[in-house]
Amino acid sequence: MSRFWSDVVRGLTPYVPGEQPKLANLVKLNTNENPYGPSPRALEAIAAEAGDSLRLYPDPNADRLKAAIAVHHGITPAQVFVGNGSDEVLAHAFMALLKHDAPLLFPDISYSFYPVYCGLYGIEPGIVPLDDHFRIRIDDYIGRANGGIIFPNPNAPTGSLLPLSEIERLLEHNTNSVVVVDEAYVDFGGESAISLIDRFPNLLVVQTLSKSRSLAGLRVGFAAGHPDLIEALERVKNSFNSYPLDRLAIAGAVAAFEDDAYFRACCDKVVASRTRLVGALAGLGFEVLPSAANFIFARHPQRDAAQLAAQLRERSIIVRHFRQPRIEQFLRITIGTDAQCDTLLQALAEIL
Ligand code: PMP
Repeated sequence: MSRFWSDVVRGLTPYVPGEQPKLANLVKLNTNENPYGPSPRALEAIAAEAGDSLRLYPDPNADRLKAAIAVHHGITPAQVFVGNGSDEVLAHAFMALLKHDAPLLFPDISYSFYPVYCGLYGIEPGIVPLDDHFRIRIDDYIGRANGGIIFPNPNAPTGSLLPLSEIERLLEHNTNSVVVVDEAYVDFGGESAISLIDRFPNLLVVQTLSKSRSLAGLRVGFAAGHPDLIEALERVKNSFNSYPLDRLAIAGAVAAFEDDAYFRACCDKVVASRTRLVGALAGLGFEVLPSAANFIFARHPQRDAAQLAAQLRERSIIVRHFRQPRIEQFLRITIGTDAQCDTLLQALAEIL
């Protein structure tokens, strides 16, 4: 730490992402990537773009991508904002839309970037505990003074899903601040709240191409909401840079949205593997929380989770363990291919 650092930077505790080990033979089930590659059409589009056109700046508004997202979700391009991964979209939402006169409400067990952005933007966190079943209880958010509300649906790292009717109920009661629904994992079993944006001008829905569209390396995320909210996000974005997405990202993302069949087939495979993995883990004595995401959250009543994670690692299998109160006995395991799940199950059977 240098004496030249600003007070804001001194106070920051940056988010530490799951490790990205380089060994090729690892079974990597720790950062919720998709085990299947991107759409071949997306790869072709990226390859086609990787030529002379890279001399030129990209479209500052990414209009083609906004149009593709609007068509896919049955909304208008004016209701779409795009950014460099949903992390950037969320960061802009924190700056553009969350008020400082009351705490930002979010679950105690949730995406760990939210408290980081609170620190960055000087927003007071209003931590709301999950219920006894590790679920978000909407009644705990209703009627509380707040400068905004944010949660993932399905939640991470639990995987638990709120039905759309509960989000609707929250929005009916919370009309004076923005509600951000972070739908990074919605395509694996949830129902998107994008269908509600015409009715609720304070709803912002954030999605990513990193999970269900297998494009984590391309860094594309987007938000859907009332054009007024989108305009606020654009103002923040334009104050940081002129070109939110590069040419390769725009080309690949547009093609990914045009290949619906591939996207649905990959999601179906992940969901089928999830069902299979949950059943097998239960057979090994694990308690697995119901998950609508591409990962599961599980604990073994007789085994220490940190030790289990270390023993799996010795066998070249990486899962995520959080040293956070209430969940330190859980492991978060990304749904891999069936073959990867089998490798995991075999290792667990040996360890247990
Ligand atoms: N929201 C949640 C809940 C996440 O788990 C993640 C992935 N770590 C993100 C947002 C960010 O994803 P990306 O920046 O890759 O779009």
